[in-house]
Amino acid sequence: MARLETKYIVIHCSQTRPSMKDVDVKWIDRVHRERGWLKVGYAKVLTRKGEIQQGREDEELQAHVKDYNHISTSICLVGGAKEEDWKQGEDNFTSEQWESLKKVLEEQVIKYPKARIVGHYELDERKTCPNFNVREYLLNEDIKGYSFADSTVTDGDIQEMKDAGEL
Ligand SMILES: [Zn+2]
Repeated sequence: MARLETKYIVIHCSQTRPSMKDVDVKWIDRVHRERGWLKVGYAKVLTRKGEIQQGREDEELQAHVKDYNHISTSICLVGGAKEEDWKQGEDNFTSEQWESLKKVLEEQVIKYPKARIVGHYELDERKTCPNFNVREYLLNEDIKGYSFADSTVTDGDIQEMKDAGEL
């Protein structure tokens, strides 16, 4: 089934231990099928080695975020759980994954120029996924073609509103 609209590019993690180096799209596919889903819920999966794998098609309706599946696509970074306790989140992604994430985001931004890049936790307050601060990441990382400032209120905007007497 195809999706009609793409308002969000949602970043996830697999919430698996960093020592589970072989987790990939096939592994996630198996887990999601065991949950009774049709197949892997994500579109892109980024392995610990930074390999970019395709789960569902980007344009396909995916299963990754409550209430927003019909207007979003997904990227899942493998890892994000503490070694000692997989239920606890941890920012432990590899440099290869950061490189791949940037690459995928720059491709997705071309594909979906109006979409906002968000972390799963921004659309579901009960989640911490992907276990790093996506806003900070976007502020620090120069994603070609994506203007983080367009989707947030900056100090400059506030000054402009004050100048215009709106604040
Ligand atoms: Zn998630």
